[in-house]
Amino acid sequence: MTPETAMEINPMSDRKQDILASRYEVARFRPVRQRRWWSLLRWFDSSLTTGLQEGDGTRIDGIRVLPFLLLHLSCLGVLWVGWSPTAIAVAVALYGIRMLAVTAFYHRYFSHRAFKTSRGAQFVFALLGASAVQRGPLWWASHHRHHHRYADQKQDSHSPLQEGFWWSHMGWFLSRANFPPKLKAVPDLVRYPELRFLDRFDALVPALLALSLYGVGEGLGAMTPELGTNGLQLLVWGFGISTVVLYHATFTINSLAHRFGSRRYATSDNSRNNFWLALLTFGEGWHNNHHYFPGAVRQGFRWWEIDFTYYFLRLLAATGLIWDLKQLPAKSRGGWSGTARS
Ligand SMILES: [Zn+2]
Ligand SMILES: [Zn+2]
Repeated sequence: MTPETAMEINPMSDRKQDILASRYEVARFRPVRQRRWWSLLRWFDSSLTTGLQEGDGTRIDGIRVLPFLLLHLSCLGVLWVGWSPTAIAVAVALYGIRMLAVTAFYHRYFSHRAFKTSRGAQFVFALLGASAVQRGPLWWASHHRHHHRYADQKQDSHSPLQEGFWWSHMGWFLSRANFPPKLKAVPDLVRYPELRFLDRFDALVPALLALSLYGVGEGLGAMTPELGTNGLQLLVWGFGISTVVLYHATFTINSLAHRFGSRRYATSDNSRNNFWLALLTFGEGWHNNHHYFPGAVRQGFRWWEIDFTYYFLRLLAATGLIWDLKQLPAKSRGGWSGTARS
């Protein structure tokens, strides 16, 4: 089978995909009364949904968000475990790899289908995305598509213009209303059981990453004590600090990139182009460009608009792992010749 045909197996009509998405949504629904206990169980199985009640739109689920808070607290562990060049290198590397996984795969591939790939690679991309601890691919892509549809309008889940900075930065995804994925927005993804699995058990990949870091740290501590590291130190730096920094860098695109920066295009939302945010998020800071042409594989439209994610995707395309990179319409290419080939 050629890679080109891999994604075309069992082509499914839009209508069939919609029906599958609806069925999956119904199958996930289990009405229960003890919402508190089920919040706890949802740490392990995100499909345990109890349905929504009045006021859930802005109500923070205190139990469900404990892991998020604990991850922040874990950064204080540095007072006990100290630091080493190895631990810092691991934290930086995991920031870089997982930021790319979020921007290239969760965002540009799963949310916008800006390029094509094989089913196997698609699964690996989802695994890497899940390691960023930002829930599963269906959840991430569905909420993001919803954002593009209603950007900065009343229905937008995370508009700083509608609900303020903190809500757009992190309040929105801690609220009860936004815990379930919006499955009807991702019928093209719901049809893959392996993606549904990763989405349902969205703590699995992060837990494996944390365990691996501990194991590698203990191994290094025993075999190469001169590195001055150990399991707990790698856990605090590689999982705690790296993930928390990755979190807040990602969240700035929802909060700051809709407030601060310039607007090249008069889009119907308040999206901005911001150089500093683009550096921090490997290209996602060109957010006004992105809202203007969300389907494009690149977000830096001019040669000087640094977009590491795009360069990385060009490299992947050169290896043959991805193809059909969606380019900009000629009028948007500006100062660049726009000769990018997929
Ligand atoms: Zn936006
Ligand atoms: Zn987008």
